[in-house]
Amino acid sequence: MKATNETTEQPSKNTESISEKDAERFWKKVEIGSPNVCWPWQAALDKDGYGVFKLHRKKQRSHRVSVMLDGRDPEGLVVRHTCDNPSCVNPNHLVVGTQRANMRDRDCRGRQAKGMRIGSSKLTPEAVRAIRADDRPSTRINRQYDVAPSTIRTVRLRKTWKHIE
Ligand SMILES: [Zn+2]
Repeated sequence: MKATNETTEQPSKNTESISEKDAERFWKKVEIGSPNVCWPWQAALDKDGYGVFKLHRKKQRSHRVSVMLDGRDPEGLVVRHTCDNPSCVNPNHLVVGTQRANMRDRDCRGRQAKGMRIGSSKLTPEAVRAIRADDRPSTRINRQYDVAPSTIRTVRLRKTWKHIE
């Protein structure tokens, strides 16, 4: 990504400075559905799967632009997806908050929703990190965590709990 000059001559806030033309250009790149479904970005994505939209000669993440178009100001804040779908730009799936709130929420979901969905609900992010750091065989440590040796192996191979570093 090219680091362009951020100080443009526009003194107004981001929210106010998106023109009708930019808005129109933005929504043309979106597959807009009903209010509850994901609206996938149809144009370029960055390496993390977020949509990229060029606004005021600067590359922005599309979901951030979406909340600006929704009248919210994400300046200095984190815009997070409630749908875990980075390319989604449905404003109903986007929450603006602080980095701390974002981390707390992610940690909480990592333990519950994601953990259960992949069948590793007995493990916690802490346990996953400990398992990966432990070099003893899976058959030796599985009982400590009350899981099958295969669960230990899939955790280590990052087939499960991929979202934990
Ligand atoms: Zn979504």
